[in-house]
Amino acid sequence: MSRETLIDLLYLVSATTFVLALKGLGSPKRARLGNGVAAVGMLVAIVATFFKYVDGHALHHVGLILLAMAIGVIIAVPTARFVKMTAMPQLVAIFNGVGGGAAALVSITEFVHIKSTHPATYVTLEVLLGVLIGTVSFSGSAIAFAKLQELMTGRPVTYPGQQVLNGIFGLGAAVLIVIILVTNSTPLLWVLLGLAFILGIAFVLPIGGADVPVLISLLNSFTGLAVAASGFTLGSNLLIVAGTLVGASGILLTRLMSKAMGRSLANVLFSAFGSNVTASGDTERADGRSVRSGTPEDVGVLLNYSSRVVVIPGYGLAVAQAQHVVRELAEELEAKGIEVFFAIHPVAGRMPGHMNVLLAEANVPYEQLVEMDEANSELQTADVALVVGANDTVNPAAKDDKSSPIYGMPIINADLAENVIFLKRSMRPGFAGIENELLYNPKTMLVFGDAKDTLTKILATVKNG
Ligand code: NDP
Repeated sequence: MSRETLIDLLYLVSATTFVLALKGLGSPKRARLGNGVAAVGMLVAIVATFFKYVDGHALHHVGLILLAMAIGVIIAVPTARFVKMTAMPQLVAIFNGVGGGAAALVSITEFVHIKSTHPATYVTLEVLLGVLIGTVSFSGSAIAFAKLQELMTGRPVTYPGQQVLNGIFGLGAAVLIVIILVTNSTPLLWVLLGLAFILGIAFVLPIGGADVPVLISLLNSFTGLAVAASGFTLGSNLLIVAGTLVGASGILLTRLMSKAMGRSLANVLFSAFGSNVTASGDTERADGRSVRSGTPEDVGVLLNYSSRVVVIPGYGLAVAQAQHVVRELAEELEAKGIEVFFAIHPVAGRMPGHMNVLLAEANVPYEQLVEMDEANSELQTADVALVVGANDTVNPAAKDDKSSPIYGMPIINADLAENVIFLKRSMRPGFAGIENELLYNPKTMLVFGDAKDTLTKILATVKNG
């Protein structure tokens, strides 16, 4: 077997592991294994590449490549290990951005290489697409990171004629690509690079913080396409396969997330969702209704008298890092013969699978995690819906109020349970910035405070009860 055939076979093994990894990542039970399989596949691909002959020559600059890899490892490993669970979306944004930037650099290098070695050769479309898509992904991800890290406002940044201007930028980039293909002009490549950079920023600015995770998934798909374009440029089948897998899975995830929010992708990208915070933040409403607040001890007593409890976790659970104490509480209740399960909304938290990952980290058994539809059919018979740091995902306005920005989003029907308990710190709204009528429902009780502290006190009362 020739060296080239062996390397192609190793690439095939690696591409297959990527497909298997995606399959694994589809379920919380197998996600860790899926990740491991992908990592092994990536290692095989990297090792095989070191033995590849390019145009009859062994790989150049091995020392520099190893140095770059070492720097990457030194930065990435501690960052990924020590990142807080709540900061995961911005970590994904920044990792995705550098991926897009790397793909753009590969295309630029190839362009410069072609022009310096064969000045008369015309560049091909994929080189220019690699520059455009990779750069849009890079600058767009940088803005997404800045929004999520609160380095800039998380609200949509809008100005008159914005979408028309963005359309002109997009059209301008397409026209430039055609001109470069015809004229083979290097200066115009730099203009394209600059325009793509601005386009990425302009595309992301009007998207509100609540929609940024969906956007990151879309930008991730762009990075995949840029990598696939680099694959065509470099003649690498593996990059084409891996890039296409990322591109396709990114777009599928984007669609799933939009669907789980009950909105179209166009609405997510162009409606500047979240520009208006409409929640008053008051404990009393204009119509005289007010919220009923209680103590952790009240909740502990109520739980002790229940036979069925549904915990509905949301973003606040992640902020409070209350996953371990909520698991302890569930165990304590179960030990007393009280049935407990966790109702998981697909977009609870700030990234897909956020609650699953959080609760799995605390060793909550998978069997106790119930998906939204199934949970909704069970809630009617629940004595208590214990809402821990969730808000938008239980907001009945999504069902009842046609004028609400979240109208149409499927929710967990916490209001069906006999008692609804909200654990939150204040009357501040959820990510969508809108009022939640359920807080004023007579069957609802609010316990103000950090979810971890409150749950610890509830647990103590349950234990003593
Ligand atoms: P929300 O953002 O609606 O609400 C979070 C709640 O947690 C708030 O009411 C907040 O109230 C409370 N909270 C925050 N910190 C704490 C704390 N330390 N202790 C107790 N409570 C706390 O969260 P949901 O999970 O219900 O909804 C997710 C939102 O994110 C939806 O709007 C969804 O569309 C959006 N989204 C989700 C994505 C995903 O993939 N998961 C992707 C894109 C968007 P207070 O400040 O008063 O404590």
